[in-house]
Amino acid sequence: MMQSLVTMSYIVASSLFILSLIGLNHHKTASRGNYYGIAGMALAIFATILSNIVASYSMLIISLLIGGLIGARAALKVEMTQMPELIAIMHSLVGMTAILVGYANLFEYSPILNVVEKKIHSFEAFIGIFIGAITFAGSVIAFGKLRGRISGKPILLPGRHGINIVLLISIIYLGYLFIIASQSGGGLWPLSLAVIIAIIFGIHMVMAIGGADMPIVVSMLNSYSGWAAAATGFMLSNDLLIITGALVGSSGAILSYIMCKAMNRNFINVILGGFGNTGGIGSTKIKGDVISIQVNELVKMLRDANNIMIIPGYGMAVAQAQHAVYELSRQLIKRNKKVGFAIHPVAGRMPGHMNVLLAEAKVAYDIVYEMDEVNDDFSKIDITIVIGANDIVNPAALYDPNSPIAGMPVLQCWKGNHTIVLKRSMATGYAGVSNPMFVHENTSMLFGDANDSLKSVINEL
Ligand code: NDP
Repeated sequence: MMQSLVTMSYIVASSLFILSLIGLNHHKTASRGNYYGIAGMALAIFATILSNIVASYSMLIISLLIGGLIGARAALKVEMTQMPELIAIMHSLVGMTAILVGYANLFEYSPILNVVEKKIHSFEAFIGIFIGAITFAGSVIAFGKLRGRISGKPILLPGRHGINIVLLISIIYLGYLFIIASQSGGGLWPLSLAVIIAIIFGIHMVMAIGGADMPIVVSMLNSYSGWAAAATGFMLSNDLLIITGALVGSSGAILSYIMCKAMNRNFINVILGGFGNTGGIGSTKIKGDVISIQVNELVKMLRDANNIMIIPGYGMAVAQAQHAVYELSRQLIKRNKKVGFAIHPVAGRMPGHMNVLLAEAKVAYDIVYEMDEVNDDFSKIDITIVIGANDIVNPAALYDPNSPIAGMPVLQCWKGNHTIVLKRSMATGYAGVSNPMFVHENTSMLFGDANDSLKSVINEL
């Protein structure tokens, strides 16, 4: 009776997770999607507590309390700008869990299995531990890179593809040794050696990835964490974990594919670890004079303009300028100006970063456009206001084949009548590449913190 209740709960929880993913597909339904996810997870935890797999309730409650407190504290404390790092470190925890559960399961698991079942079980455990180790190591490096503790520049060892292949072959061979040895209760050494090599593989893979390709890595690690969870589900014969892991794994893989398309990178290369590095250092030198303007000059231009496009970037998140941006757009719309927001797929530091901030500030969805919807229309725009963005509006991506971001589609705002860039200095962005648009004759720079500048513009307006 209890077992069928648990199975029912797992089915309902799985359905809630699917509804959650459907909801998260669109801004309007995103918060509903979140509630479905929360309900599904609560049900899953509750059903697991009721199921007969719990060996010690006191351990379970202590673990829930510790995990819950750490999670709640992190969620309450985290700044919006630190969200990508939080996600990266969460992925590393999933990877670490897969390793620990795999080891524990190998030592604890003792049902009577026949030879074939035993081999399959060892194989499942090995896959779970292997993916977990790569996810763990890769996510820790991604965390370091996103937080700026590790240089964002790609570290390219000579013959790195060869190194990757040797590491992979060693892992497969050690996996074979482990499966054979585990039939008679052994296999700890080949398994542990494989874990160490998988960790080196994960570190090497992510270290080799340059600035602008990081978004793809973050979504790939998201996908890996899902597959690690699914493999753990097979290991534990837990259907809900298999379904949830597969949902995370496949949605992460689809997101990686979408990001690859947006960044003009080859999906197969990404999967194989041949992430598109096209040089490593910015070759574009900026030649020309910077035109700097003051708030009153910008306000005068805005008064004369009819068609205004706003491009938010990572600096808007840093400055927490989304509310000021919304207020500016409101003021302009009140004055009968046509205002739109153009969103680059990798603006900010996580997928959908800008959409989340604009939604938080209550910017209407119908004036927020995807890059492809507006990129051909910049010639009709009187003024584009670029707020704390750099890489996503860099013409070098299109015109300099030696640039590290060569081939990445960018918002071509320089084709408009006039571009105003709000940032604090001439510093480069995440990819570390200079932006020649900043010295174009129809670009003006309004230097300063984006939030302060926007508030001054609103006051002056
Ligand atoms: P960039 O990192 O290229 O540029 C951000 C700019 O914001 C900087 O040049 C900085 O200039 C400016 N800035 C910072 N703080 C402020 C502030 N308080 N006020 C005003 N300006 C500020 O960001 P983009 O959004 O243009 O591009 C995103 C980059 O991040 C891409 O290279 C992308 O590949 C990468 N990335 C994206 C991820 C994603 O999933 N979206 C994940 C990981 C990386 P200054 O210091 O002069 O003010």
